[in-house]
Amino acid sequence: MRNIAIMGSGLVGALAANGLRKVGHQVTLYSDRTPEQWLQSKPTGAAARFELSLQLERELGLNHWDDQVPWGEGAHLTVCPAPRNRLLTLTGRLSRPFQSVDMRMQIHRWMLDLVERGGRLELQSVTVEGLERIAAAHDLTLVAAGQAELCRIFERDAARSVYDAPRRHLALVCFQGPRMRFDNLPLVPVKFNVFPEAGEIFYMPFLHKDVGQSWACLVEAKPGGPLDRFRDATSGEQVVERLKGVFRELLPWDAAWFEPARLSDPQGWLVGAVTPTVRRPVARLPSGHEVMALGDTVMAFDPIGGQGANNGYKQVRNLLECVAEHGDEPFDGAWMTATFERFYARHGEPAYSFNNLLLEPITGAAQALLMAQYGSDGCTDNRSPQQRLANAFADNFNDAASLTPVMRAGCTASSRGRPGARGSRRWPEGG
Ligand SMILES: Cc1cc2nc3c(=O)[nH]c(=O)nc-3n(C[C@H](O)[C@H](O)[C@H](O)COP(=O)(O)OP(=O)(O)OC[C@H]3O[C@@H](n4cnc5c(N)ncnc54)[C@H](O)[C@@H]3O)c2cc1C
Repeated sequence: MRNIAIMGSGLVGALAANGLRKVGHQVTLYSDRTPEQWLQSKPTGAAARFELSLQLERELGLNHWDDQVPWGEGAHLTVCPAPRNRLLTLTGRLSRPFQSVDMRMQIHRWMLDLVERGGRLELQSVTVEGLERIAAAHDLTLVAAGQAELCRIFERDAARSVYDAPRRHLALVCFQGPRMRFDNLPLVPVKFNVFPEAGEIFYMPFLHKDVGQSWACLVEAKPGGPLDRFRDATSGEQVVERLKGVFRELLPWDAAWFEPARLSDPQGWLVGAVTPTVRRPVARLPSGHEVMALGDTVMAFDPIGGQGANNGYKQVRNLLECVAEHGDEPFDGAWMTATFERFYARHGEPAYSFNNLLLEPITGAAQALLMAQYGSDGCTDNRSPQQRLANAFADNFNDAASLTPVMRAGCTASSRGRPGARGSRRWPEGG
C-alpha cells in the first residue's frame, strides 16, 4: 500500500482518488470545497463521457446514474457554410452510447464515496509551500488542479502546445423545457452545428442535478464573429435569451424546439475560454520533491471535441496500471515522465490532434470523409457505406486514434492542427 496525495477534487482528481483507493492505497484528496459546496458551484464543464471512460466508471463502481441519464446515442452534424444554409447533415450512431451527467453531482457523490471507502478528504486550497509539506509526507503527489494557479508549476511544453491563445469564446448553459427527442431522428444525439465563419453550437442530452433529464448547450464562438455575443453575459437567463436569438437567426430549423428553454439552475452556466495547452508532467519543487500533473493541469482542451474529461479518464486508467506495475519502487520524476509518455502516445496525442483539427478550417481529407457520409440517417438497419463511415466518425470521439490520422492526412507534421494548416479547405456554398 502506497501513500498518495491528490490536489484538486475536479472530475479527474476525484476519479483518480477513488481508483487508487479501490486497489488499497492510502489516499488523501485535497479539495478547496466541500461536497455540499460542489452542489452550489458553477459547473467546470459539461463532460460528455464516451465508452472508454464509462467502462472505467463501471469498473470503479462510480456509475451511479446509468438508469437515470438520457443516453446519447450518436452525433448529428449539420454544416452551414452560409447562414440558414444547411448544406450537409450526417447522423452517426455510436457503438456504445455516451452520457453527460452534471459534474457537480458526480463530484459530490464521488467525494462521499471516497470517504466511505476509507479515503481521506482535506479541505484546503493548497499553496506551493503547502505542496512541499504534502509531497514530503507522501510516496506520490498528484496535481489535478485544472488550469488554476497551481498548474503553473508545470512548464508549458511549447513544442506540443500549438496555441498560445484561445481559439474560441465559450458559453455553456444547462437548460430544460425542450423535448428529449428531435423530430425525424431515430436516435438521441449530440447535435453539432458548424458555421465555418462563425463557430459551432452544440447541444446534448444531460442529467442535471436538480431537474433531471434535460439539455446542455455549448457555444464555440470565433472571436469577433456573429456568435460572439455571450462574453459580457452576467446571468444564465441572459445566456438563454441571447441563445434564442441565435436559434432564430442561424438555426431556424431548431428554433421552435428551443423556444421553451429556460435555465436549469441559477449557477448552471459559464462563459470563458481555454487555451489548449500541454504541460510537462513533472515539476520539481524547491525542496527537490517531484510532483506529477494530471487531467487539465497537464493537457487542457478547448471543449469543441468533447475530449478534455475523456482524456483525463484515460490518464487515470494509465496511472492505475503504471502504479500497479511499479510495485514498491519509488515514484520518481523518470517514472512520472514515462507514465505520461505511455498515455500520450496511445491517447493524448490523437485526442489533442483531433480536437485541434476541429478548431481549424477543415482539412481536405476530413471534408471528403464528411461528405462521403452524406445520406447517413442513424437507423440501426442502415448498413450502407455512408452509414458505416458516419458511425466510425461518431466513434472517433471515444477513441480519437481510430480516424484522426485519416482526417489530418495532407497536413504536414509541422502544420498539424495549427492555424492555417496546409491542406485546409473551404466548404462549397451550394444548396
Ligand atoms: C464548457 C465546457 C464543456 C466541456 N465539455 C466536455 C465534454 O463534453 N467532454 C469532455 O470530455 N470534456 C469536456 N470539457 C472538459 C472537462 O470539463 C475538463 O477536462 C474536466 O472537467 C477537467 O477536470 P480536472 O479535474 O482535470 O480539472 P477541473 O475540473 O478544473 O478541477 C480542478 C479542481 O481543482 C481545484 N483546485 C484548483 N487549485 C486548487 C488548489 N490550490 N487547492 C485545492 N484545490 C484546487 C479546483 O477548484 C477544481 O475543483 C468541457 C469543458 C468546458 C469548459
